[in-house]
Amino acid sequence: MIADVLFTGGPIFVGAGRPLDAHSVAVIGDRIAAVIPDSAAGAYVGNRTRVVDLQGSLLSPGFQDAHIHPVGGGMEMLQCNLSASTDAAASVALVADYAAANPDEEWILGGGWSMDHFAGGAPTRALLDAIVPDRPVLLLSRDHHSTWVNTAAIRLAGLDASTPNPVDGWIEREPDGFPAGTFHEGAGELFAHVRPAHSEELAYRGLLAAQEALIALGITGWQDAAVGASSMIADPLGAYRRAIREGTLKVHVNGAQWWERDGGLEQVERMTTRRDALAAEVPAERLTITSTKIMVDGVAENQTAAMLSSYRDAHGHATPNSGLSFVDPSVLRAAVTALDAAGLQVHFHALGDRAVREALDAVEAARAANGASDGRHHLAHLQVVDEAEVPRFAANDAVANIQALWAAHEPQLDELTLPFLRDDIEARHYPFGDLVRAHAKLAAGSDWPVSSADPLDAIHNAVNRIFPGSTAGPLGGDRQRIDLTTAMAAYTSGSAYVNHREHDTGWIREGYLANLVVLSPDPFALPTDELHLSTVLSTWIEGRPEYLATETVGDDQ
Ligand SMILES: [Zn+2]
Repeated sequence: MIADVLFTGGPIFVGAGRPLDAHSVAVIGDRIAAVIPDSAAGAYVGNRTRVVDLQGSLLSPGFQDAHIHPVGGGMEMLQCNLSASTDAAASVALVADYAAANPDEEWILGGGWSMDHFAGGAPTRALLDAIVPDRPVLLLSRDHHSTWVNTAAIRLAGLDASTPNPVDGWIEREPDGFPAGTFHEGAGELFAHVRPAHSEELAYRGLLAAQEALIALGITGWQDAAVGASSMIADPLGAYRRAIREGTLKVHVNGAQWWERDGGLEQVERMTTRRDALAAEVPAERLTITSTKIMVDGVAENQTAAMLSSYRDAHGHATPNSGLSFVDPSVLRAAVTALDAAGLQVHFHALGDRAVREALDAVEAARAANGASDGRHHLAHLQVVDEAEVPRFAANDAVANIQALWAAHEPQLDELTLPFLRDDIEARHYPFGDLVRAHAKLAAGSDWPVSSADPLDAIHNAVNRIFPGSTAGPLGGDRQRIDLTTAMAAYTSGSAYVNHREHDTGWIREGYLANLVVLSPDPFALPTDELHLSTVLSTWIEGRPEYLATETVGDDQ
């Protein structure tokens, strides 16, 4: 057999365990044809074989992001994009620049602002009124849980001091009750009837922009954490279907259909119908929508994450609030049981320790009712996990879907979250070490555009739990660090598992798709506190180089 491409001259991380030395990987067409000792590699080299000399770089399966919003993120890249701003003044300046550059846009839409750049996590309408007094402005926060608007938008939506808070969110208010400019959680929906719908064209261009950026980070597949009808996020399915029709979707995607938190079990049938209709339309190797996304709770920064203990106020006094369970726990158990029986796997957003408990209770109920199924139910975010919950992941075959970039001390956590939670809670944050010791399966993702999509930055944090250059100690102490092999496995074979693609992706194995990434320097050769220095030299999808960092990647012959 003559290979089209032969990777040789560097260690090979196959998806788990220590990297192989002195081995080569032969690719024929879109598949890995063989993983062979170097001594046998010569037999695969012919006249037309492209030999990639890794020169000591690491060959790994392509990364798979198990929780990401590429279409929304890509649209933000193309709209008023505040994700690069470092403080309030920079955010305001970016809005002013965008408004000046786009005088014909009736609404200024975008997002990416950071709560920790504004007092109390809540930017004001006055900041926007000073630069854009005449047109409505609506900007989502980086985590998409809060909405920042100007006065023109508030007036257009018909809101004032008499507008009540919705049940699933609240309005920041001025002393007289008039909205101050930030709307949290479901309160952002108060603009749904006036804000313009995103155009299909913008969604499509956003998907392609995101795909290019993500492939450059070594990502070759992902789970879109919200497809289908959701008024919070435009439905990305149209963009994916168009990309498949036009042959521009290069990665493989599993979509998690959005569960309407106020809806009932009738949603299950709607989801299976939509799943089956799509399966008849597009190739399953490209796109499936076999997952369901359920938001169990909100986020800790605005005190909507569901906690086992109550939040404190700014003076350190206990409040009656312990966060929101968006879905009643008994409804959640019934819903997950029905979804599991229908062959849909549940992707939970579960941040607080009470939300984690409620999600695991629901998986346990489904397992009890349906027996073992092939549903790869997984809990994403896991900001606070009680010790009692840790062994329940393995016991109920629930996967921990980690966003490791968040597992370090940084201002949003230290200023907007930890002071408002009980004293001992830092130790229960993102307890990945505990989960691994309790044999939980891990998958990994970024939640981009909430935070950077760079897997190597997340892997650095999973191992160190300290941002590069930070003087803080590891979040939760050393015992919550995980080793590099485990972190790499989570981002490759682990995410392939929750994407139901471990039979042909996520591993370097004979017969698997040649979805590969070359990392330099080899992270396994770096001191652990320098993992972030490793970069992507090239990304290969189905045997083709889709990203090359430089023209001289390897020694092409
Ligand atoms: Zn998300």
